[in-house]
Amino acid sequence: MALVVQKFGGTSVADPDRIREVADHVARTRRHGSDVVLVVSAMGKETDDLLRMAKEVSNTRPGREMDMLITAGERKATALVCMALADLGVPAESFTGSQAGFITDTTHTNAKILELRPDRLRDSLAAGKVPVVGGSQGVSTGRDVTFLGRGGSDTTAVALAAALNADSCELYTDVSGVFNADPRIVQGARRIDRISFEELLEMTATGCPKPAMRSVEFARNHGVKLHVRSAFTWEPGTWVVEEDPDMEHAIISAITHDASEAKITVTGLPDEPGIAAKVFRALADQDVNVDMIVQNVSDHGVTDISFTVPFDDVERSMTVLRPMCDEIGGSHEITEDSGIGRVSIVGAGMKSNPGVAARMFETLSEHGINIEMISTSAIRVSCVVRQDRLEDAVVALHGAFELDRPVPA
Ligand code: ASP
Ligand code: MG
Repeated sequence: MALVVQKFGGTSVADPDRIREVADHVARTRRHGSDVVLVVSAMGKETDDLLRMAKEVSNTRPGREMDMLITAGERKATALVCMALADLGVPAESFTGSQAGFITDTTHTNAKILELRPDRLRDSLAAGKVPVVGGSQGVSTGRDVTFLGRGGSDTTAVALAAALNADSCELYTDVSGVFNADPRIVQGARRIDRISFEELLEMTATGCPKPAMRSVEFARNHGVKLHVRSAFTWEPGTWVVEEDPDMEHAIISAITHDASEAKITVTGLPDEPGIAAKVFRALADQDVNVDMIVQNVSDHGVTDISFTVPFDDVERSMTVLRPMCDEIGGSHEITEDSGIGRVSIVGAGMKSNPGVAARMFETLSEHGINIEMISTSAIRVSCVVRQDRLEDAVVALHGAFELDRPVPA
């Protein structure tokens, strides 16, 4: 019998009607002959609400208690979904992450899965039931409840699909799949029918919000077939699969954008061994996630370094950089610029097609958009531009690479 893991995001289980629809869909899937393991997120915006409440109550917010609080959202949803299934005559059982066998490290609010022992879920399936698992949670090696972080339910689902050897993992959400640009910005944005793990990873790393990057990584590493689709229209969505070497690729698969980073520039650094090491070690030790880095050619023995960091890490970065630059000596200036945005083109086809970067730069130039930083990977080119031109850049590139054209069947 086929086995499918179905994960439902917050909007998909936001209210009683939605929960009944999800139950209907699960019943239908079973009638078509598949066993189902369900993973559910907290209803609607409940995770945000719980986080807000914690902030209102406490300044310290101990991690252990935060995780106990947040995971309650998913736990509620599992019980309600099981009740709706019971009404349809589908036997179901709710499980917390801990009961489902998710053993994690002790990093509260962002725990990593160390081991998965889904024995109870196997028993439940063997008894003809639908196990319904709370997403994004587990139990730590210290036996405390842990939360896997925002978007962690996707990871729960993929990990279960891998451990239970499921035929596929379906991530149900409020959009009908992965789009080749943000449909809120680009009118002609199209749903992608099939995409490789590598491409989707680059997309999620450069601003595509769903699915969570960690889950895509996990799926690639364990060969889990992912299907991102809508819990509102139930139509087929986007399949994420191993790259097919025999397939001709579109040169560019998607345009992504990200306005959540800021640029920090340190000028007047001595151009000698060990300076970049010092700067970035200090940032790393503060858990600052540095992204693009550009070092200028040196002039009279001094150089400038610019890099981007998530907006929320700017303060922390400045706090470590100031004393460190004093220690290095010389005259520096440290500036931050939060008015930037990053636009990226992603596509496996660019590996074998010259001129892709040139076309991107020409397109931006034709629209009078200045490029401030550039970075590349084998299948991606990213440019930092002014944030107020970011959407123009996305629209222009989507057109230039003809991504609004219907995909050939
Ligand atoms: N409910 C959590 C969140 O919104 C976990 C998840 O659904 O992935 O981040
Ligand atoms: Mg979610």
